[in-house]
Amino acid sequence: MKYTAPRGTRDLKDREAQAFQALEESARRIFQRYGYEEIRTPVFENVELFKRAVGDTTDIVEKEMYVFEDRGGRKLALRPEGTAGIVRAYLEHAWDKSGGIKKLFYIGPMFRAERPQAGRYREFWQIGAEFFGNPSAQADADVLLLLQDLLAASGLTEVKFLINSIGCAACRPVFREALLKYLDSKQGCLCDDCKRRLARNPLRCLDCKKDMAHFSDAPKMRDSLCGACQAHDQELKGLLTSVQFPYEEAPCLVRGLDYYSRTVFEITAPGLGAQDALGAGGRYDSLVKTLGGPDIPAIGFALGMDRMASAKYGDSLSAGIQPNACSRIFVALAGQGTGMTGFRVLQDLRKAGCTAEIGAPGKSLKAQMRWADAWKAGFVVIVGEEELKRGRVILKNLQKHEQKEIEIENLKSEIEEQREKS
Ligand SMILES: [Zn+2]
Ligand SMILES: [Zn+2]
Repeated sequence: MKYTAPRGTRDLKDREAQAFQALEESARRIFQRYGYEEIRTPVFENVELFKRAVGDTTDIVEKEMYVFEDRGGRKLALRPEGTAGIVRAYLEHAWDKSGGIKKLFYIGPMFRAERPQAGRYREFWQIGAEFFGNPSAQADADVLLLLQDLLAASGLTEVKFLINSIGCAACRPVFREALLKYLDSKQGCLCDDCKRRLARNPLRCLDCKKDMAHFSDAPKMRDSLCGACQAHDQELKGLLTSVQFPYEEAPCLVRGLDYYSRTVFEITAPGLGAQDALGAGGRYDSLVKTLGGPDIPAIGFALGMDRMASAKYGDSLSAGIQPNACSRIFVALAGQGTGMTGFRVLQDLRKAGCTAEIGAPGKSLKAQMRWADAWKAGFVVIVGEEELKRGRVILKNLQKHEQKEIEIENLKSEIEEQREKS
């Protein structure tokens, strides 16, 4: 039996693991600057939470969720997105009762049983944030500016921000009517998915990659916004313009999840091909209430780390790691009774902050040198039986192909000196 990673998943390793690490570090730095705290919620939750939050009629809940029953007969699901679990936590910890304002971020894997394709995985990673308790367009602008900084800190400056308003419970039904009438006239060219959506969630049709081309003359939500939604939209655009934030209006942009209201946005990166969305988000003013809490507004986003990594590093992601060789030191053992000293030298180097590794006792010096090479060492310290009698070791500089015998006590300062010269 040969085991492989489950379909649609992969091991994050080498350069890709390094890329994820770098993305996480820069994200944490920016989140801190904007006053966000980290939250780590469970990767599985009660299945009802997702049905209620994400919406029964969405593809995610209908077709893509990993649902299972635990040994106690509880119906659970691997989280297909991050927001539902965070709203659950927000209410569970009664943060709504201490003023309601809360800024939370998360980094972690999500799970959806989608058809695997380039850049799309069944276990995929997201960086996301939720900002609770501020109903004004100022919060929307705050979130968009955070996103811009976060992407820039991750080396992603060539991105587009697409923004739209999808109205509220007061004005969306009006638009829905107009859209239904319009879609009815297009029955002939709707795909099967859209025919099904027509009855339950016609807004989602606008999002359909297959049919989009036919919908250029569809009614626009923008034209149906109520006074309050219009004012919110105008205020946001005013704030964004005042700080020269670059955005594009995207009148056909809707989101795949049911819980959004007013501001929705998507971030795309050119060069990612057909799957060019790096992330998306929007305002969800009724979700806290939907999940049993008080009427508390919120706005959030999620970025796909898998796509961020490939947008930044492209083809080089599959390459092996390229460490700074200069900083890597390999301790090789040559002869009887050298193991103990070698081990001590190794630990001294590590304590001094060096990246150090040691050869296995009993291996030939030649085999250890091959290992040092493969490990991309910059220096090799050879602990030899003869030299050890004089309290000395051999230091080999692999880049310069030089070697010299030195006192064990001087090892660190000698390496330091040679490094500075290189
Ligand atoms: Zn409205
Ligand atoms: Zn369609």
